[in-house]
Amino acid sequence: MAREIAKGYEPQQIEPRWAKFWVEEALFRADVDAPGPVFSIVIPPPNVTGSLHIGHMLEHTEIDILTRWHRMRGYNTLYLPGTDHAGISTQRVVVKNLADQGIDYKKLGRDEFEARVWKWKEEAGGQIVEQMKGIGESCDWSRERFTLSPEMTRKVREVFVRLYEEGLIYRAHYLTNWCPVCLTVLSDLEVVHEERLGHLWSIKYPVAETAGEYLVVATTRPETMLGDTAVAVHPEDERYKHLVGKMVMLPLMNREIPIIADEMVDREFGTGAVKITPAHDPNDFEVGRRHKLAEINVMTDDAHMNANAGAYAGLERFAARKKIVEDLKALGLMEKVSEHTHSVGICERSKTIVEPRASTQWFCKMKPLAEPAIAAVERGDIRIVPDNRREEYFNWMRNIRDWTLSRQLWWGHRIPAWYCKDDKHVTVAMEKPEKCGTCGSAELVQDADVLDTWFSSGLWPFSTLGWPAETADMKKYYPTTLLITGYDILFFWVARMIMLGIHFTGEVPFRAVYLHSLVRTAGGEKMSKSKGTGLDPVALNQQYGTDAMRFCLASMAAPGTDIILSDDRLLGARSFANKIWNAARFLFVNLDKFEQGGAALEELASPEVRKKAPYAFGGEVPLVDQWIFARLTATVEMVNEGLKNYRFHEAAQGVYQFFWGDFCDWYIEWVKPELQSTDRERAVVAWKNLFAAFEAALRLLHPFMPFLTEELWHQLPQKSEAKSIALDAFPEARASWRNAKADQEFGLLQEVIVTLRNIRAEMKIDSKKKVAAEFSSGDAATREAIARSLDGISRLGALAELKISAQKLEQAGGAVRSTSLFDVKIAHVEVVDKAAELARVRKEIEGLQKSVASKEKQLADETFRSRAPEKIVLGIEKTRGEQRIELKKLLDRLGELEKG
Ligand SMILES: [Zn+2]
Repeated sequence: MAREIAKGYEPQQIEPRWAKFWVEEALFRADVDAPGPVFSIVIPPPNVTGSLHIGHMLEHTEIDILTRWHRMRGYNTLYLPGTDHAGISTQRVVVKNLADQGIDYKKLGRDEFEARVWKWKEEAGGQIVEQMKGIGESCDWSRERFTLSPEMTRKVREVFVRLYEEGLIYRAHYLTNWCPVCLTVLSDLEVVHEERLGHLWSIKYPVAETAGEYLVVATTRPETMLGDTAVAVHPEDERYKHLVGKMVMLPLMNREIPIIADEMVDREFGTGAVKITPAHDPNDFEVGRRHKLAEINVMTDDAHMNANAGAYAGLERFAARKKIVEDLKALGLMEKVSEHTHSVGICERSKTIVEPRASTQWFCKMKPLAEPAIAAVERGDIRIVPDNRREEYFNWMRNIRDWTLSRQLWWGHRIPAWYCKDDKHVTVAMEKPEKCGTCGSAELVQDADVLDTWFSSGLWPFSTLGWPAETADMKKYYPTTLLITGYDILFFWVARMIMLGIHFTGEVPFRAVYLHSLVRTAGGEKMSKSKGTGLDPVALNQQYGTDAMRFCLASMAAPGTDIILSDDRLLGARSFANKIWNAARFLFVNLDKFEQGGAALEELASPEVRKKAPYAFGGEVPLVDQWIFARLTATVEMVNEGLKNYRFHEAAQGVYQFFWGDFCDWYIEWVKPELQSTDRERAVVAWKNLFAAFEAALRLLHPFMPFLTEELWHQLPQKSEAKSIALDAFPEARASWRNAKADQEFGLLQEVIVTLRNIRAEMKIDSKKKVAAEFSSGDAATREAIARSLDGISRLGALAELKISAQKLEQAGGAVRSTSLFDVKIAHVEVVDKAAELARVRKEIEGLQKSVASKEKQLADETFRSRAPEKIVLGIEKTRGEQRIELKKLLDRLGELEKG
């Protein structure tokens, strides 16, 4: 059988081939009729505008590891992929593209613009999907969904109509957040609040008909005063009681506005008199309603002053602010300007300061939806991991406010509401109605707005599976098993899915939510594209291999801990892949040699042969084989336990330790001579056990490193119908492989070898030079165990001889190391050049003594101690401690050398 395993591990040669194979063969297509318990997971749909970033890479790696792991354990598995139409983001991208071509999207008109976005989506929007295929995600591509497909649109409409009919969706005039760059209202969640240093301007409003009397109001946004329709004071404020009911003259506008009394006013704040601008402030809006005040909107959509702003019309809002402040000063109406730090709302996308503004929008009533969603998490119907995020969920849900649903965009799910003439009546329906539901008018106009993108993604776990139809997919895969996503969208998305899922299906949308960590830069900062600190996972996958990237991320993915990704870490994972590749090459190169004696790979490693491992020789399974299968079983248990609890790092470290440490460093090294043994039966046993352990290790590693393991798995004989390691079984933790005795005995051998290696390193003996050593133990069983494995110990310890005795070893003449069970010794005569060694040790001692002394002096200096940061002092103390230990070792060594 011809085996082609390239000399060097080159992921770029392997990965694209298997990625293509998995997609073309539709290997991961879910089958509702397949047996087994169900594992179903839907992807958090990435924006169709997006490309794979490092956060996706982590999220998708975790999802794919769990998906592959379940599939290999016989679960009926579905990993459902898809993308989100991402209303604002996509519209922004296409608007900009058009602008770059000199086209004003508004002039194109709505239909043409939508057509352009669809065209753009077809041409450029699939990038992230291609990238997901490229990194080998084991999705069922036949079930790929898009939140704005005609199919999804019907579901969104159905949900909207039903909620409207139930009185949970309503249209109202209300104060909302307006983004003057995105040109749409935003929900509270889309506004980020930042503390910023600004000014507080105190302005004098002259009381009408009372020359010389003023009310002083303070504001952080003077431009809004142009829309003032009252000044309010507290009803019990003695200072102003006589003024309530009178008028003030609004400066700059020369409009008389009333002085009103309202309990909302805080008497202690500022002067106790506040300006009221109902169209531009949430509190003022409420006051305006109570007092039936006019709402005067003074701004345009893009935050310029409008015709209601008198002389300031046409000015941009901050230019207007500057001019207004100057004019007030000139009029002598500016009483005071002070610096003032206050909270400013910023649009999370455009980073523009949001303008609070009154307008008519669609809202969703949240309280009735939130209550069952709170109860579901309280009852444990949904588990939120890490645990501390549960409290955040409860807090937000218990204080939830109504959700602003409409967005003034063209790209998205258009609101299924139609108005008759002058917006008199509204008719909400699945399809365009023929006439107004109230007056029968046939002149109907559809609402111009679209729905918040999160409205459609809120339906994702059930809309993608066919709801409202009772499809086979809904029956089989809903509720989904698990959701993995970032904690930053717990409220935007997770909470809304829970609310809508329970409301529309009567069941929770998923049984568990795992909120993954953030990936940070080496400096610990959050990655940012604009700062240029974002890592491009696609480029890194090219450089290190996707397998290495996946493994690296998994090995750091501890719940609740952010991940700091660095080149060193990636290199470490890449070395691991290299190590496995080289181990495989070693096996095949040596097998070639062995085959010259007339053995076939089929005979040594067919699936049937592997199944019966471990094999015995001379009536007993060799110790090393007993041990490796015991380690395999323990590792499988550890990996299963880790993955079950989203402790990806523990699972990855378990696989790493097994494959690199146990299998490569110990097992292969130990059995090397057996593999070429002239005793053919002995060699065949060694090969069979080795292949069985190796193949199981590949399956163990597969969920983490799918490409490398697929490639190597195909080099081994497999059943004729077997297509992929991904469809093979995950290794079982076999009870019959557990072996405490072998663990203990082989563990003893390892300890002896490591101790001897340490002595050699301290004595600076070349690692290949064979030396004589002594071993002693008072325990007969221990001595027998060593005697049984003398060959292996001698080989791995590079010993010419190992004398075994029961007498305690003399310190004189050599270096002795003791454990509770045994002593080992290497004689000084083994050191070639004693004089040179003495000189070297003396020199090292001298250097260390100086260094320790200088640190002691520094630490004794009270001035230094009181001024230096604690971290520095602790660091010096730590180094001094370590150096003292090293010094003690060297002094002992010097004593030994001088004696010997
Ligand atoms: Zn009507």
